Amino acid sequence: MGGLGGKNNGRKTGQGGKNEEEITLNYKSIMENTTLISIEALRKDFPTSGGSFTALNGIDLKIGKAEFTGVVGPSGSGKTTLLNIIGSLDSPSEGKAVVLGQSISDLNPKQAALLRRSKLGFIFQSYNLLPVYTVFENVEFPLLLLKLDDNHRRKMVMDSLEWLGLTDKVKSKPAQLSGGECQRVAIARAMVKKPEIVLADEPTANLDAANSHNILKTMVQLNKELGTTFIFATHDDKVIGYLKRKISLVDGKVTTDEIRNN
Ligand code: ADP
Ligand code: MG
Repeated sequence: MGGLGGKNNGRKTGQGGKNEEEITLNYKSIMENTTLISIEALRKDFPTSGGSFTALNGIDLKIGKAEFTGVVGPSGSGKTTLLNIIGSLDSPSEGKAVVLGQSISDLNPKQAALLRRSKLGFIFQSYNLLPVYTVFENVEFPLLLLKLDDNHRRKMVMDSLEWLGLTDKVKSKPAQLSGGECQRVAIARAMVKKPEIVLADEPTANLDAANSHNILKTMVQLNKELGTTFIFATHDDKVIGYLKRKISLVDGKVTTDEIRNN
């Protein structure tokens, strides 16, 4: 982006405010031109014993290609509910969520599974690795549903393990790995198909600071190099520090939506 060089252009405002505005405008126009996710008046009600509980209450959002965005808010604010709808794991009660051109409400279970399998990657706080399988087999797992020849599949797995620095752990089982390594395997599994969108729900919740920074730096790099869109749900300041856009959620409503120049 051209805006970054601007501080040496001889203007003596000393504020840098113009540059930030420019960067923000550039970022906004990139987002608007390449919208991958479009959410309108989204509402989600869950039935409860006492009636119904509104977890999302009128969300309007657009998320563009190659964004590195986080939905941030306290526990219970609706982050997971929103990510689950974007990930076609759940559907809206009212309003619209269009993901990669497909309206989530209109998908039958088979179509939703196909969207997840072909275009989306998921990372969870608890890694969700299969304990009896090796690192290689865990990362290979999402590819088994696609009809690929063995060599092609093997190469995709090895590429993904290389991005995550795991090539020496190919034959290990999850129990032989540290928490940070397990989360790296989970990221490799999410990235193996080069999905358009990766949804990461509290990915650092079980990691120490060093491992959290490590995986975040890797995800920033994957976002830059592969153009993958990352969407986090988090209340961890370490994650928030890396976000290029921070969408704050309180009681199922977006309260602020900031683009940041970090
Ligand atoms: P967050 O991820 O921000 O902690 P969630 O999206 O998990 O929040 O939950 C938002 C609110 O919706 C919470 O109050 C939660 O208890 C409620 N909720 C989530 N899922 C269900 C469900 N399946 N049934 C009833 N209430 C739910
Ligand atoms: Mg949650």
